[in-house]
Amino acid sequence: MTANNVTRTRSPRKPVRRTAQLQEAGRALVLRVGQTVSRYRLTAIAAAFGLGYRLDKLSGGTDDEADHYHVNLSPADGCHTCECKGWLRWQTCKHVDSLNALLVAGCLPVLPDDAADGLNLAEEFAASEASEAEADAA
Ligand SMILES: [Zn+2]
Repeated sequence: MTANNVTRTRSPRKPVRRTAQLQEAGRALVLRVGQTVSRYRLTAIAAAFGLGYRLDKLSGGTDDEADHYHVNLSPADGCHTCECKGWLRWQTCKHVDSLNALLVAGCLPVLPDDAADGLNLAEEFAASEASEAEADAA
């Protein structure tokens, strides 16, 4: 047998059980990944597109430097985003996966349509530019 015939075999990774649970009438999110439990305050926020959420860490989590994350779900095209290190590295994370699963299950609180429609970043930017110009002129 030569070295070229050696094949590496990896033992298959045992799948880690992951669960997401809403508590306190949808205001708290509890994520379990294996034995690790993370709790977040869940707030639906306006977003320029899709659905916006802010997760404020209450306990647990794997990144001691981050105390909150903004998550955007885009059900129309699946182009979700999160601010956590896991998402930045792997383009997948427990925050997006759990919120998307809760959304698909019809359990996730969403802002009324008119709240999201009221958000127009271009208009807000133009308005802030105009008010700065007025301030400069005064
Ligand atoms: Zn994330």
